[in-house]
This record gives sequence, structure tokens and C-alpha cells, in this order.
Amino acid sequence: MNMKAQKPLPQAQTQVQVDLSDADTMKCEDCGNSVFIPAYFIKRLSPIVSPTGKEALIPIQVYSCGNCGKVPEKLKQDVEG
Ligand SMILES: [Zn+2]
Repeated sequence: MNMKAQKPLPQAQTQVQVDLSDADTMKCEDCGNSVFIPAYFIKRLSPIVSPTGKEALIPIQVYSCGNCGKVPEKLKQDVEG
């Protein structure tokens, strides 16, 4: 693997130019609130498949509604598959 310092990828520059006026604001499916707070799903990795041979707890950050606490289905699907 090449560990030398590299120039920024062209992709990074594209991301900076994204126009947020074209982006939708995600809203809570239950209450319509559009402010979310960080929350975590915790995945339990069984000792059988864990690389360390012990049970591992893996936090995965999602966002929950700041009003009612609901985690949007879209984010749940990303975690639970
Ligand atoms: Zn809500």
C-alpha cells in the first residue's frame, strides 16, 4: 500500500461545490420536525464471528428526531440492511 502523501482527490472538490438549495431537508416521518440529534445503534458482534474472539459492541451513529426521538426509516435501513 502506498502511504505517501497524496493530492486531494477530485471527488472532494466536487462535494464542496454541492448546492444545498437543491437538497431536500429531511423531516421526521412522525411529527414533521426537521432538527435531528446524534444517536447510536449498537451492533453486537457475536464471539464466533468477532476477530478478537470476544463479543464486540459496535456503535453506529444515526440521527433521531429532536422532538419525538424517532430514527428515520431510511437511516434504520442503512444499519439493519
Ligand atoms: Zn419526530
